[in-house]
Amino acid sequence: MQILVTGGAGFLGSHLCEALLAKGHSVLCVDNFYTGSLENISHLRENPNFELLRHDVTFPLYVEVDGIFNLACPASPIHYQKNPVQTFKTSVHGAINLLGLAKRTGARFLQASTSEVYGDPIMSPQTESYWGNVNPIGIRSCYDEGKRAAETLAFDYHRQFQTDIRIARIFNTYGPRMAIDDGRVVSNFIVQALRNEPITIYGDGSQTRSFCYYTDLIDGLIKLFFNEEIQGPVNLGNPKPIPMNSLAKEIIEITGSSSDLVFLPLPGDDPKQRDPDITLARERLGWEPLVDRADGLVKTIEYFKTKI
Ligand code: NAD
Ligand code: UDP
Repeated sequence: MQILVTGGAGFLGSHLCEALLAKGHSVLCVDNFYTGSLENISHLRENPNFELLRHDVTFPLYVEVDGIFNLACPASPIHYQKNPVQTFKTSVHGAINLLGLAKRTGARFLQASTSEVYGDPIMSPQTESYWGNVNPIGIRSCYDEGKRAAETLAFDYHRQFQTDIRIARIFNTYGPRMAIDDGRVVSNFIVQALRNEPITIYGDGSQTRSFCYYTDLIDGLIKLFFNEEIQGPVNLGNPKPIPMNSLAKEIIEITGSSSDLVFLPLPGDDPKQRDPDITLARERLGWEPLVDRADGLVKTIEYFKTKI
């Protein structure tokens, strides 16, 4: 298949391009390099089945493709909050443009949605049937509401035009190719630990997240995309929540760092808990994460050692 991957030069997008090429597909990688990098995809550029297009998905795109993975959107809070209007446009105008492309070409469209659609969840673990607890006017809303609107658009295109859609709700995922200045917790803590600098814990560190290694996540995205029976939304994540305090201690231990912990103010609307219920993915996709957090962290730390 000829597959379009938007956000293909980002952390997950570059791994997805690589996995699709390895399966024999042709890949058109589209990115505006807001948070992605040429370095993430430099090893793919010699491949005759790989093509790169610098393009911003908030503008229409006219190409011929059989499938679309829509990953374009900054994912780290510091980056998506830097230009919130552009973040919202990327999710909403981007989805309209790419769903329009899917409608015209008949391509299957997969939306990289997020656990953020559950906001600061009152229910835990979060099942796909939970509608969430989202502040529509807070500093995270440009991302949360943008992603919710993209889900809405995908389902409306499906109901109105029979567009073939898949929705993956991705929970926190980490691994090699996260940028050093990404700002998300795993890369921050690892970089700080390797530099023996203070580990910055926001709030009291009791808030939880569940961390999925990228290989598992990419496997889940591909299983969902090629599944003929389920549109989703489907949660993809590792259902083993951990408080940020404990994550910091794990990373200090694995790196043998002399870093201290410093406690900084908790950013607005930072969710207190996040834990995916992955029953649907297990039963319908035969998917579950295989990489333990300790193993994934060791591999990610090895990667960051080469970058520092
Ligand atoms: P990332 O920031 O590394 O990748 C996002 C990519 O999109 C970058 O290459 C960026 O340059 C590109 N991009 C941003 N705006 C664009 C635009 N207007 N036009 C074209 N390209 C644009 O983040 P990631 O972790 O690889 O996330 C990829 C996708 O997965 C995002 O949509 C994100 O919301 C979703 N997601 C990721 C996680 C996670 O934990 N990694 C969790 C939930 C959802
Ligand atoms: N966090 C932290 N220190 C950091 C970066 C993040 O304590 O240096 C916290 C953040 O407040 C949140 C959690 O780690 O509670 C996960 O943050 P991240 O930005 O990785 O993703 P989120 O799940 O919040 O989108």
